[in-house]
Amino acid sequence: MSGPSTTIGGRATEAPATFGVVDPATGAVFADAPDCTREQLDTALAAATAAGRAWRADEAALVSALYAMAEAIDAHAGELAALLTAEQGKPLSAAGIEVSETSRWLRAAAALELGEETILDDGRRTARLRRRAIGVVAAITPWNYPLLLAGWKLGPALRAGNTVVLKPSPYTPLATLRLGEVVNEVLPPGVVSVVSGGDALGAWMTGHPAVGKISFTGSVATGKAVMAAAAPDLKRVTLELGGNDAAIVLDDADPAAIGKGLFWGAFINNGQICAGVKRVFVPESLRDAVVDVLAERARRVRVGPGTLPGVHLGPIQNRVQYDRVRGLVADALADGASAATGGAPLEGPGYFFAPTILTGVREGMRVVDEEQFGPVLPVLTYRTVDEAVERANATRFGLSGSVWGTDLDRATDVAARLDCGTAFVNDHLALDPALPFGGSKDSGLGVENGPWGLEEFTQLQVVHRPAA
Ligand code: NAD
Repeated sequence: MSGPSTTIGGRATEAPATFGVVDPATGAVFADAPDCTREQLDTALAAATAAGRAWRADEAALVSALYAMAEAIDAHAGELAALLTAEQGKPLSAAGIEVSETSRWLRAAAALELGEETILDDGRRTARLRRRAIGVVAAITPWNYPLLLAGWKLGPALRAGNTVVLKPSPYTPLATLRLGEVVNEVLPPGVVSVVSGGDALGAWMTGHPAVGKISFTGSVATGKAVMAAAAPDLKRVTLELGGNDAAIVLDDADPAAIGKGLFWGAFINNGQICAGVKRVFVPESLRDAVVDVLAERARRVRVGPGTLPGVHLGPIQNRVQYDRVRGLVADALADGASAATGGAPLEGPGYFFAPTILTGVREGMRVVDEEQFGPVLPVLTYRTVDEAVERANATRFGLSGSVWGTDLDRATDVAARLDCGTAFVNDHLALDPALPFGGSKDSGLGVENGPWGLEEFTQLQVVHRPAA
């Protein structure tokens, strides 16, 4: 079955070769995607460069076009959600939310103002501060939230007057390719091109001299390669990378009250989320109660093909990740950990894994030290809050973290001690288009969202002039 086409310079374009896209609920190839050539990338980037001049010349038209993009996505919501479920695995209901969040994020970006300001006026001269578009943005996305993360990049990049060439993950190209077709119905040609291919296509993009800015979301290892590729011509970069978020449960927390938020903070999207809870620290006095509420919820979760009504979680998205999660859990169990629930794959053919709560875990186990990115949550115990904070921070990751308790002032004080981009109290993953999102340390560089995210798609310019 052939899937949607690549859109290059406003035109649906076939590639000379294709690659197979696997349905993770069956493990079988169900569609083909275009494997774009280097020449096709050159064409997309040349079209983006050419389209940029007119695109940024008329700000009102640009803002209207952004709202029209959001409308177009909403008008094709059912179709986009179905493609997303087929290739990504998430339940149709979650895919529908991802589509509507994508258009919500685009509208939020459309509503932002770039503004100019006078930063010097001393009677002899004035200096105005402007924010100019950078040019062509290379946007590269991972397989966990293909549409939403594309929206995080498209909205502010375009709002700032840039044009974009977008490349989805080879695991999940279809919904993004279709999004490219849909938004090109309302955009001037070349403003947004969507190309698909293997990882090499991403490397061609990041090394290409026509690109002025790279907005990348993916793994730490690839993020570092992207930054190195950007160095020769000093491309601007924003990197949203992995996480190993800690949730610290304080001794005054009510396990029954926090159970739902803590559980879904870890298991939403089958744990395949950069800023999900990946380690829970509980005081020894609350260990059994917290493990019980988490395990009870994990047992109640319905796992199955995303097309099945009533399913809460689908399969793990791809075979490599499925094997990795199996390996992390097997290693921990062999090293003395216990599964309070789960601990093993579910019956296939797809990449289904039982939601798993692990106890008896410690630092030094891979499932604690590494980003598991799957439906597995290790629960660790601590004696003092200082110790919990120190262990939560003892990682190269620093995306987000959370603290759970009844005394909100105390919990907020502890949250502020976490080395991370966002620290929550009694919540996790409460993302919003108005709030800057980004990581410290190896979790990233720069932020997305809000005016801060918009500014990352601009170049500052100071315009001096003498007083009249
Ligand atoms: P990945 O790094 O393997 O791939 C991400 C994208 O980069 C894909 O489109 C891929 O084709 C492309 N790519 C691969 N090699 C490249 C290269 N050398 N140059 C340029 N592009 C290249 O990541 P993944 O496995 O798709 O996604 C999972 C990772 O993404 C996890 O670590 C997760 O934490 C992270 N993530 C982070 C955020 C965030 O906002 N911080 C959000 C979602 C996912």
